[in-house]
Amino acid sequence: MATPVRDERPPFASLAGVELGALFQALPSPCYLLDEGALRQNGELMARLAQRTGCKLLLAQKAFSNYDLYPTLAPCLAGTEASGLYEARLGREEMPGKEVHVFCGAYREDEFDRLLNYADHIVFNSPRQLARFGPRAKAAGKSLGLRVNPECSTQEGHAIYDPCAPGSRLGTTRSQWDAQMTPELVGLLDGLHFHTLCEQDSDALETTLQAVEARFGDVLPRMSWLNFGGGHHITRPGYDLPRLEGCTRHAQERWGVEVYLEPGEAWALNAGYLRATVLDVLQNGETNIAILDASAACHMPDVLEMPYRPPLLGGGEPGEGPYTYRLGGPTCLAGDVIGDFSFSAPLEEGDSLLFGDMAIYTTCKNNTFNGMPLPAIWVRREDGGLEELVSFGYHDFKGRLGRR
Ligand SMILES: *Cc1c(COP(=O)(O)O)cnc(C)c1O
Repeated sequence: MATPVRDERPPFASLAGVELGALFQALPSPCYLLDEGALRQNGELMARLAQRTGCKLLLAQKAFSNYDLYPTLAPCLAGTEASGLYEARLGREEMPGKEVHVFCGAYREDEFDRLLNYADHIVFNSPRQLARFGPRAKAAGKSLGLRVNPECSTQEGHAIYDPCAPGSRLGTTRSQWDAQMTPELVGLLDGLHFHTLCEQDSDALETTLQAVEARFGDVLPRMSWLNFGGGHHITRPGYDLPRLEGCTRHAQERWGVEVYLEPGEAWALNAGYLRATVLDVLQNGETNIAILDASAACHMPDVLEMPYRPPLLGGGEPGEGPYTYRLGGPTCLAGDVIGDFSFSAPLEEGDSLLFGDMAIYTTCKNNTFNGMPLPAIWVRREDGGLEELVSFGYHDFKGRLGRR
């Protein structure tokens, strides 16, 4: 199978010219393949943004936390963002010398002192949490923020990713602020944080920033920083960078704040793959089905949760090519379906498939439902060399279920 990759669309661009057969031969199946070169390109684009605007960029680790690759991103960023104690510790340990920021829906009494060992910036979700933990964090020299909810939904479709939806638990609304923020609490704050976007362009940021200013404009002059959260699809081709830069400069100049951005996916967008193999091919009525050794539910959970249809090398829209298949995992979940794709030749047992854009929200979110093995994680270095970072076995499944 001496077929070089010819697809130069973004998810597969980093493999253009690579011999697919040789690649598949070198890798186990299933297997995540992280692409160091693509990661560096994303990082460099972000670093130039930071240089031009003076904003500070953080890696939101919940999207991508394959720390073996942190040295590739480290020169491009100011620090990491964590969702709690463990990610904060990971950021402190694996991005030495960089800032550690944390936002959590609610902090725990039994963890908070340990969190103070790792975090530089601590962002609270509610005035009550700020009142409970803020004085201790302030005394420990931390920079404190409150996440606000500008009540400005800019996304359609992905309701589970909309923190501005009515009844949302994420962020403090203006009426909550007015009811609960005493002058003492306001005095504890160094900054405000908002996070309302998901895979969006900078027009949505602009709209959101205006909403933040409309609701919290009286507070901003006392703040020393403003964190724009994540969800900025900065490294996607066609993203409107000048508008983002405009938003950043506007906030810096109007409010005198330091601007932070904490994207997750943008750092590792299109910087990884999931290699899978066809285990069986069958037919049910008109539907051709291929069962793979990779599972949507276990190995690409956002395919079901978001939901979306992942990019597949050589896979067209259903009916576009002559042979259309529904690709599914080997689990017992009826809905463990990756999507319908068409091919130029029939699929056969043993065929290898390569899904694109699999570095984000995958390795950090996968699971062993049905006793499914976790795919190994490999890296493709910039010189084309392939290295295994980690592989998993039975004990990674059993070890989470009972006495070890
Ligand atoms: C998820 C999240 C991010 C990163 O979001 P991406 O969509 O991956 O860019 C940043 N900040 C907070 C608070 C988040 O919850």
